[in-house]
Amino acid sequence: MRYFDHSIHFADGGSQQIPVGKVVCVGLNYSDHVAEMNSQQAAEPVLFLKPASALVPLEQPVAIPVEFGSCHHEVEMSILIGEQLADCTEQQAADAIIGVGVALDLTLRDLQNQFKQKGHPWDKAKGFDGACPASAFVDRSQVDDLQDLELRLTINGEVKQSSNTSHMITPVLSLIAYISRFFTLMPGDIVLTGTPAGVGPIYPGDKLSVELVDIISVETHAVER
Ligand code: ZN
Repeated sequence: MRYFDHSIHFADGGSQQIPVGKVVCVGLNYSDHVAEMNSQQAAEPVLFLKPASALVPLEQPVAIPVEFGSCHHEVEMSILIGEQLADCTEQQAADAIIGVGVALDLTLRDLQNQFKQKGHPWDKAKGFDGACPASAFVDRSQVDDLQDLELRLTINGEVKQSSNTSHMITPVLSLIAYISRFFTLMPGDIVLTGTPAGVGPIYPGDKLSVELVDIISVETHAVER
């Protein structure tokens, strides 16, 4: 199923008719994930984009493409932007955040590895239709400290990824300020803040529990796309 209704949903049932925009993602933002990828910690944040067409509601079954090799889960805290930001300060970034949620940065890992080896862009591996299942958002005012939240992904009852947002290499506000030097952020844009260690394949039939603990928790399952 390829579907997004192109409005922003809040976990309390509200929705805002702001257009869903782009998704700006950061790679290698938790050092334990840098290590498991056999990568070096980057001097500056590694940014990439997912188009709006990659967004699907996490509350729907997660559609996994099976014809392109392995599809990996990366659980990430998501941030909803409510104001235009260009070359912004961290304070402006803080004032522009209107929602917090949890998302999966689905990654066609075999394809990505081929692209990396050839020096080609990753876009097909990270930006395909359905590559960004994202939860409804919790109002920013419901979250105290963005850098002290437990992030957890459980598959078939087994905890696969578990960390705390305090372990981010570039924290949220400086990440948004950095992003805005390259990409103007618009209302409805979403920032994914990186994944901790434990990434691995996800298969049709898997039962998923995707949590930003005490903020939002989504029970869903994977199906073949
Ligand atoms: Zn990611």
